[in-house]
Amino acid sequence: MSSTFSLDPGADQLAVRDWLHGFAADVMRPAAAEWDEREETPWPVIQEAAKLGIYSLDFYAQQYFDPSGVGIPIAMEELFWGDAGIGLSIVGTTLAAVAVLANGTDEQIGTWTPQMFGTPEDVKVAAFCSSEPDAGSDVSALRTRAVYDEAKDEWVLNGTKTWATNGGIAAVHVVVATVDPELGAKGQASFVVPPGTPGLSQGQKFKKHGIRASHTAEVVLDGVRVPGSCLLGGKEKLDERLARAREGGRRPGGRGNAAMATFEASRPAVGAQAIGIARAAYEVALDYAGTREQFGRPIIDNQGVAFQLADMRTRIDAARLLVWRASWMAVNNRPFTAAEGSMSKLYAGETAKYVTAQAMQILGGNGFTREYPVERMHRDSAIYSIFEGTSEIQRLVIARAISGVPIR
Ligand SMILES: Cc1cc2nc3c(=O)[nH]c(=O)nc-3n(C[C@H](O)[C@H](O)[C@H](O)COP(=O)(O)OP(=O)(O)OC[C@H]3O[C@@H](n4cnc5c(N)ncnc54)[C@H](O)[C@@H]3O)c2cc1C
Repeated sequence: MSSTFSLDPGADQLAVRDWLHGFAADVMRPAAAEWDEREETPWPVIQEAAKLGIYSLDFYAQQYFDPSGVGIPIAMEELFWGDAGIGLSIVGTTLAAVAVLANGTDEQIGTWTPQMFGTPEDVKVAAFCSSEPDAGSDVSALRTRAVYDEAKDEWVLNGTKTWATNGGIAAVHVVVATVDPELGAKGQASFVVPPGTPGLSQGQKFKKHGIRASHTAEVVLDGVRVPGSCLLGGKEKLDERLARAREGGRRPGGRGNAAMATFEASRPAVGAQAIGIARAAYEVALDYAGTREQFGRPIIDNQGVAFQLADMRTRIDAARLLVWRASWMAVNNRPFTAAEGSMSKLYAGETAKYVTAQAMQILGGNGFTREYPVERMHRDSAIYSIFEGTSEIQRLVIARAISGVPIR
């Protein structure tokens, strides 16, 4: 009987892990506190990553298509072990790149994805703009309008996006807009806004609780005109899709299901980021517990502390198994019948919050200060139950998948 089941990453994946770990330890960690305080995009670190090939389309494409399925989770975990704010500044571009990969034609992918990264000499970032002030969890409610100007073969975009990672500082913005508001999510399409397009501007830049090195801002679209070729997937495909949606009304299926499949495949990557933060905080706490003495002995000698560490490690490993499973399923085109991608993001995000809070507790007063990194990790972890679908929305998706009931 042949046995093919294995949880051992291959030599290639381990080499990538060790390479990224070196960058995370030597370049990201020492810079983390500074960029967190500055609340600015760490361009010099991104440039360094670009020179080494860590910030490049080729690198992410290689990991994305890695047949083992664990290329992206391993990369994300190591970078976010280094630092989450800087990590998001480095990988934020991939959100927009994945939107083009998922919806664009081969020509669009070839044109826009390289421009999102720029070159090591002239580094660029990209932004994915879906959320709006009145459309966060409920993406079907978004109001940004895209109107086709047939005479000029141009699309005109108007609206305000919010919470966009790299919004306003990006070379390329990918904007989700409604073409037919009557159709809800099925009436939406994604557009590339090329570098320097008039009418696109940055609104408010947010001051945040965590991941402060990552730029988050509003993006205002005021009569933004983009060529017809910037509609991802092309007009013919959109027209067919809209016609089908109008015939079928708001019945389930079509773009809704395709979008859900894309989310299921991308959520494990976000879960892996959360695991990186959790692992980093756990390691600091484990080390501290072994050296800090109270009552004449290391605090780890107390079950009350040691059991906390046992739980922290157990949850981190469980989260990683869920993430690797979902990522493997995505690469192998397995159907996400129980929303396994959402499951992995939910559990990893909640684990990061739990583990970083426990780590602060184990460090006592030191954990509460900026002399030690765990308070930053704790602040950074909080976003993992909010973006890429809140924990409540993940539970909603899982509950619907396992029950078949349209739970609200
Ligand atoms: C730092 C940061 C970076 C971000 N980056 C991007 C980006 O690059 N691009 C982008 O498009 N967006 C981005 N977002 C937006 C993010 O995805 C949204 O904040 C998120 O989807 C939640 O939307 P909301 O903030 O409007 O919360 P709301 O949807 O208003 O939710 C508020 C609360 O109500 C709960 N809730 C809502 N509906 C339900 C329901 N049906 N059942 C149970 N509970 C419910 C939520 O879980 C949450 O707890 C970012 C956000 C942040 C903070």
